[in-house]
Amino acid sequence: MKPAPLDYIRATSVAHAVQVLAENDGDGKVLAGGQSLVPLLAMRLSQPTVLVDLGGLGELSYIRDESGHVEIGAMVRARTVEISSLIADAVPLLPVALRHVGHVTIRNRGTVGGSTAHADPAAELPAVLRALDADVVVTGPSGSRTIGAADFFQGFLTTALAPDEIVTALRVPKSAPGTRVAVQEFARRHGDFAIVAVFAAVELGASGEIAAARIAVAGADQVPVRAAAAEELLAGQDPSPAVLRAAAAEVAGATRPFDDIHGTADYRKKITAVLARRCLEQALPTAERSSA
Ligand code: FAD
Repeated sequence: MKPAPLDYIRATSVAHAVQVLAENDGDGKVLAGGQSLVPLLAMRLSQPTVLVDLGGLGELSYIRDESGHVEIGAMVRARTVEISSLIADAVPLLPVALRHVGHVTIRNRGTVGGSTAHADPAAELPAVLRALDADVVVTGPSGSRTIGAADFFQGFLTTALAPDEIVTALRVPKSAPGTRVAVQEFARRHGDFAIVAVFAAVELGASGEIAAARIAVAGADQVPVRAAAAEELLAGQDPSPAVLRAAAAEVAGATRPFDDIHGTADYRKKITAVLARRCLEQALPTAERSSA
């Protein structure tokens, strides 16, 4: 199939893009990397009357080292984030997670703004934003506002973005030096969207105890899930196998999975517990764990 007829406008600035969206009263769509939108257009699951291409907006292609956080412009490609040494040092969970996004050709085109705005509950980036309490910066006709990831992701492919707003940047808090990170995914084939994926960033204290943990799950709810009870359980504990198993059960307990062609809700919950345990074990090498 091919897309329904539409007007194509190449935005010359963020203000121009927002103006076109506002003029088209909810019938406009932004084009970023096109990796999700173009198939939706081709299948006519999305039929905007006007497509606003952000591809020429250099003002949205930057990675900035700010005090306490890194700011990533919306048009930065997933692959650019994955191989950035600044990101590897400041937010090590991001590149480890983005390596699981599709194939490298998709990451070469797909943008961080596009993945965030698309809000697929199985996607890696939204889950990392949720785990790390990142902010999404959005711009509309009356200016910019900042939305925490917990409020931004509202449901399946649904966000807090108004029809005339675009995502302009992500602000991701820097991780403490020495933070250990891990990602565990289960997918049917390499490069597929995860059926379930678990993301962890763990800080260790001076005696090897868990000082703080941040855990999120993709693919086990309509939105990325933050496993707050598991994080509380882990804080201050020695990372023994028993503690990690108990935390993994809490991670699964935080999810509200669904049935689909890939598996039942019950199946997803069981996978979540297994992946969460493996993820914590991966983040915390065996040598540093005391016995159960
Ligand atoms: P586009 O496709 O251009 O846009 C997607 C949606 O977001 C559209 O509705 C568009 O209007 C909107 N949008 C885009 N940018 C903005 C913005 N700045 N402000 C407001 N709205 C905006 N993703 C994963 O996370 N994990 C995977 O494993 C994975 N596997 C994939 C496998 C295949 C074969 C393919 C084709 C894609 C896969 N993807 C996966 C999706 C990929 O990561 C997409 O790139 C991403 O979801 C969307 O980014 P994009 O820049 O291509 O956005």
